[in-house]
Amino acid sequence: MSESPILLTPGPLTTAIETRRAMLRDWGSRDPAFIALTAELRSRLLQVASGEGSHVAVPLQGSGTFIVEAAIATLVGPADKLLVLINGAYGERMVTIARRMGRAVEALRWAEDRVVEPGKVAEALRADPSITHVALVHCETTTGILNPLAEIAAVVAAAGRGFLLDAMSSFGAIGIDLSSVPVTALLASSNKCLEGVPGLGFALVQPAALERAVGNSPSLSFDLHAQWRGFETDGQWRFTPPVQVVAALVEALRRLEAEGGPAGRLRRYQENFDTLWAGMRRLGFALFLDEAVQAPIIATFRMPADGRLEFRRFYDALAARGFLIYPGKLTQAESFRIGCIGALDRRDFERLLEAVAEALRTMEVAA
Ligand SMILES: *Cc1c(COP(=O)(O)O)cnc(C)c1O
Repeated sequence: MSESPILLTPGPLTTAIETRRAMLRDWGSRDPAFIALTAELRSRLLQVASGEGSHVAVPLQGSGTFIVEAAIATLVGPADKLLVLINGAYGERMVTIARRMGRAVEALRWAEDRVVEPGKVAEALRADPSITHVALVHCETTTGILNPLAEIAAVVAAAGRGFLLDAMSSFGAIGIDLSSVPVTALLASSNKCLEGVPGLGFALVQPAALERAVGNSPSLSFDLHAQWRGFETDGQWRFTPPVQVVAALVEALRRLEAEGGPAGRLRRYQENFDTLWAGMRRLGFALFLDEAVQAPIIATFRMPADGRLEFRRFYDALAARGFLIYPGKLTQAESFRIGCIGALDRRDFERLLEAVAEALRTMEVAA
């Protein structure tokens, strides 16, 4: 088996060997040992966001999109209307999901390099009393932009609407305090800032919202109310759980606690980002975003305008040196992305920068 590459991606990402080792055993899904592991998982997920007193954790098999789909199908009822605040591809995906689920949905859009503006959200909610729920992507992974969560949550709560937060690429690193920020349901997955392996999403939901949502979902599998009732009834998953993924995520959550929780993790990611950005700037690259709105989660770099850097060749040159970067996802500009998250530190980024410099030399791009 060859050595794992360094993943500079927004997930799946580089995981600690201890996290991967936690998968080296079999678990009976209905055995007390696994029921206890599931209980630990649910309680640790709440702890990360101080949600023990206000929310319940509902894990669901699948990738991050699955939990977003389940949350919209369950919490936005057939007579409700969702307003999605969009400044990137993951916001657009929520509109697609709502339409497929047959839900009424509206979109409010900003450019990909602009944050969502709380004032405009308040206006939209005043203008349309039929909107019952608002959805926001916390860190839009399309660019790495960080939306002003506390301000938007306050506007939505003041207007008395439900609030769905896609915190997929922020949860575990950017502190979210559910005991003070009003969020109906927070959605995230195992394989981003929690540094687990892929295969599981979860919702941290206000139980009253789940109780109201009984029978809402048109889907058997994507039904967070039924999934929640399952856990509350016998501590078990309704359908086959990804047992190894759960074991790895519990280990990853213990490691998060040992690192000092989200604050400790953010310090490491910020150092990763600062190292990366300083080095890339020296090599002549420019960030797509203004630094004031950039989260230290994933950096989007503009393709140099001279056209001599071709993504595929650049990717291959870095891959040959053990580093996997990520293509851009912008609608308007040529770009590529480098993730700062995962079990990596400043030294990994220093080595990456050496590899980028070498790749540029071999590609004969003047750096
Ligand atoms: C990763 C991600 C998702 C889910 O993507 P999957 O590929 O389904 O795991 C959703 N929203 C955001 C903001 C993300 O970064």
